[in-house]
Amino acid sequence: MGTEAGRCGYVAIVGRPNVGKSTLLNHLLGQKISITSRKPQTTRQRVLGIKTEAAHQIIFVDTPGLHKDAEKAINRYMNRAATSAIRDVDLVVLVVDRTAWTEEDSMVLEQIQQSGHPCLLVVNKIDLLEDKTALLPHLQQLADKGQFAAILPVSALRSHNVEELEREILKFLPVSDHFFPEDQITDRSQRFLAAEIVREKIMRQLGEEIPYSITVEIEEFALDNEVLHISALIFVERKGQKIILIGEGGARLRSIGTDARRDMELLFDCKVMLRLWVKVKSGWSDDERALRSLGYDDT
Ligand code: GDP
Ligand code: MG
Repeated sequence: MGTEAGRCGYVAIVGRPNVGKSTLLNHLLGQKISITSRKPQTTRQRVLGIKTEAAHQIIFVDTPGLHKDAEKAINRYMNRAATSAIRDVDLVVLVVDRTAWTEEDSMVLEQIQQSGHPCLLVVNKIDLLEDKTALLPHLQQLADKGQFAAILPVSALRSHNVEELEREILKFLPVSDHFFPEDQITDRSQRFLAAEIVREKIMRQLGEEIPYSITVEIEEFALDNEVLHISALIFVERKGQKIILIGEGGARLRSIGTDARRDMELLFDCKVMLRLWVKVKSGWSDDERALRSLGYDDT
């Protein structure tokens, strides 16, 4: 094999909520960085996932889904973050869910085409397609929706076609030196990742009962005697949500803590002592200043 010039660039992964963007990112990276759940709006901030392989480095920008309903400050924030994520990249990967095409998909596509960047269309969750023969005609229909550099059916969850996607992505990145050290996998702090893990466990265990109105703040993050001591404060909007979150005799919160601690020990590769607290802070999701104080800041 001849020497191949190294490529490096930014790739935004966009699409409406719940199509599998975070799952795809985690599988592309081979490591869990972005949290996932069956509930839309799990991802609120963009996360950089950095994949360095031999001479190439791909810097992924996971975006919050774009929302039609931008009434609340938190939704406006997410729309701004997603739009700005599209602006400064070399390539946009638009993820859609199988054969469904919604108004929201059209809205996201419109934003991408306005950006002028090349767009790869990823048709995700094909493992759930019962009639595989329907796929080809459907891909042809999708091709008429916009200007796509390529269309790839994948299953992010089963890692099907994900390597092909990575090869396709590389073609669109400029020849360049790496922007990040090769052992760096994200630009997010460990504190941020810890908070996201707690949020993921809450979403998973209390999907329907707790709406989007929770946020997690890390109060303590300290390594002592090879044990990582983490205290996390969970903010909810209402007293009732606090009661649900804590559960009978504290059972729910303990179970969330157990799941979160397991993931943290894997990620940080050490023993973790985790303490969780719940606090009511009403109206935070619709208050721009409260959002900023909780770290939802535009950068
Ligand atoms: P996001 O909101 O676009 O980031 O979506 P997530 O990555 O959080 O995924 C939403 C849900 O879809 C989760 O329950 C995932 O497990 C599921 N999911 C994602 N990709 C696939 C896939 O390829 N196949 C199947 N069956 N489920 C998937
Ligand atoms: Mg996500």
